[in-house]
Amino acid sequence: MKAFISRRKSILLAAGAAVALSLSACGGGGTPADTAPVEEAPTFAAGTTMEKLSSAGSIKIGTKFDQPLFGQVGLDGKPVGFDVEMGKLIAGKLGIPADKIEWSETVSANREEFIKQGQVDLVIATYTINDKRKQEVSFAGPYYEAGQALMVNKDNDTIKTPEDVSGKKVCSVTGSTPAGTIVEKYGAVLVPVATYSACLEPLRNKQVDAVTTDNVILAGFVDKEPDAFKLASDETFTKEPYGIGLKKDDTEFRNWINDQLEAFEEDGTYKKAWEATAGSVIKTAPELPAIDRY
Ligand code: GLU
Repeated sequence: MKAFISRRKSILLAAGAAVALSLSACGGGGTPADTAPVEEAPTFAAGTTMEKLSSAGSIKIGTKFDQPLFGQVGLDGKPVGFDVEMGKLIAGKLGIPADKIEWSETVSANREEFIKQGQVDLVIATYTINDKRKQEVSFAGPYYEAGQALMVNKDNDTIKTPEDVSGKKVCSVTGSTPAGTIVEKYGAVLVPVATYSACLEPLRNKQVDAVTTDNVILAGFVDKEPDAFKLASDETFTKEPYGIGLKKDDTEFRNWINDQLEAFEEDGTYKKAWEATAGSVIKTAPELPAIDRY
């Protein structure tokens, strides 16, 4: 632990002005998954993805890089968040330590393609399970259920429900489920961008009236800038069950990940992962949703 802190400190010192801010944010050590035991020489049936990854000793995981609470790259260049913790826990069960995970940024529009092309073994990236996506990839989970919401400027008292954005400019991300819903169901004028953080300046400058995506993503942005932004309402208006994306029809791998998710719930690592990340802002700890063993 001591070694970790001093290594971290030297990185932070190099970062100059950011030092004071980040020392308080780093909270004195690794995340639960960094300190959770990595399975020693686990064995898997020959030919399975688990066996291939485990014997390679590394895994490629796609996550978000700009979403506080679920997946955001820190000052040290490493992503942190609940999705990232899930990835580390799964890697650990394959005998792969956190520092042998190759993280890539996946944005909403390229997740299926990254899986199909083999750029990543898994996508854990606030990734809603739905039938359309299931035609291209398979999903383990869900491991969390979010819901769509709206974020507005702090001084906006006119937008409270999705009905209020009909005909209004709403920023969201290309290839995401909320972008589709806000146009098709609520008649908003979409201002599409590649990642959610790209919606923040347009909202602040009033070039758009609102930002829409999952409540937990927006809650992360509001937490960073509570004087600038707020959620239009605590209500959500869709269900967004988050899955772990993997190669289509790799049923053994999917079933195995589902078993691990249930084990994380049982042994308390799921709860610890939540508390160390999104739980700092979202106080109601989730229970693992019923796994969709389709
Ligand atoms: N969960 C939604 C989706 O998968 C929105 C969040 C995101 O774009 O990652 O499309």
